[in-house]
Amino acid sequence: MSKRVFKFGGASIKDADSVRNILHVLSVSNFTDGIIVASAMGKMTNALEEVVRQYFDHKIFPEDAFRQVKDFHTDICTALFPDTNHSVFDKIETVFEDLKNFMQSNQSPNYNFVYDQIVSCGEMLSTIILSEFLQENGLENIWVDAKNLIKTDNNYRDANVDWAWTQKNIKEVISEDKIYLTQGFIGSDPNHFSVTLGREGSDYSAAILAYCLNAESVAIWKDVPGVLNADPRHFEDTTLLQQISYKEAIEMAFYGASVIHPKTLQPLQNKRIPLYVKSFVNPGLPGTSVSGGADLIPKTPIFIVKPNQILLSVSSRDFSFIVEKNISQLFELFEQFRIKVNVIQNSAISFSVCIEDKFGHFHQLLDKLNTKYKTTYNEGLTLYTIRHFNEESIQKVLQNKTIFLQQINRETMQVVVK
Ligand code: ADP
Ligand code: ASP
Ligand code: MG
Repeated sequence: MSKRVFKFGGASIKDADSVRNILHVLSVSNFTDGIIVASAMGKMTNALEEVVRQYFDHKIFPEDAFRQVKDFHTDICTALFPDTNHSVFDKIETVFEDLKNFMQSNQSPNYNFVYDQIVSCGEMLSTIILSEFLQENGLENIWVDAKNLIKTDNNYRDANVDWAWTQKNIKEVISEDKIYLTQGFIGSDPNHFSVTLGREGSDYSAAILAYCLNAESVAIWKDVPGVLNADPRHFEDTTLLQQISYKEAIEMAFYGASVIHPKTLQPLQNKRIPLYVKSFVNPGLPGTSVSGGADLIPKTPIFIVKPNQILLSVSSRDFSFIVEKNISQLFELFEQFRIKVNVIQNSAISFSVCIEDKFGHFHQLLDKLNTKYKTTYNEGLTLYTIRHFNEESIQKVLQNKTIFLQQINRETMQVVVK
């Protein structure tokens, strides 16, 4: 039987009341079998990143940062489970014990590896709590360790899925018409160490599961009514896009509309599995449906904002042209330093890119580039992308801004500003 995949993100499980609300969402949706994917609670991934940072900076067990994560989860459990002997307490304690033991015995200097072993605990904890809570409230479910489902390479913090192995695992483990509950964002490498799929990667996990199971649909439950024509944190007067094509959604996610993780759409589009972006506050409302229909052109301009951009310009020292050979070398370096390129512009002797330094390697890259080229850069910029732009929408974005770079094609206008 064809199954539905429901994904709950950090905002939908940020405290005891929101965990209770999941029961409501599931009941409104008649969810009696299928797969639930959950990410870490609230801002716990950030809190665990802080644990990693302190652990590396001071080379000792970061007592306070660890305590914060532990207290947060324990408080939620205390609110959800009146019985202090409930098995959930032992289960989360085991995760904390393992985490502590890992940090006390770890010898690996590999930051990304250590990051994944620590940060992945957020999803383990959230799913243990959610699973026990649903069980306690009459919704039987099978908790599954995503490390036994999603197999990847060992590109820690941005692991690449081994599709054949993953497909085999998923088919074996998820075989009955029951509710299964697992973690988003995490998987395991060939040696069974934890990996993560890139920040905000739980949407992607839901898509991987849906793809491997030929699911009927995926719903991602958000704190917004669906996909809007702009991020409500940056724009007033947003409108809901009731239906968009995979292509539109993929473009939006790629340019930075954080409501959908960019890797989510491709597996779904390949198997024509519809994606619903829905509100966990009003689960009865239809939200946004993302499906086929390349001709679904939105009627309003769509605004996408990406902060923390760097504009880097690279030019030759001797006035020679920047040609294909240099450009391919530059891109090799971007890949090597895991720098994400968002916009490219080329002239005779200069090559400019708007980039993002997700892994903190920018200055290493600069040192390398400076041995051969002249470089200039500006930090702290914002990249605005307008899909289906018109004059009014461009004016709206450019008001009181200094433009550093601008690019326009048929459907999309991009501008890097301060
Ligand atoms: P999750 O809880 O699954 O992690 P996110 O917080 O990552 O969810 O995604 C929801 C957020 O995405 C919203 O609160 C909103 O601020 C932001 N967002 C960015 N662009 C859009 C958009 N075009 N439409 C709706 N929300 C958007
Ligand atoms: N918990 C992870 C993060 O915050 C994954 C996710 O939320 O999608 O990045
Ligand atoms: Mg998120």
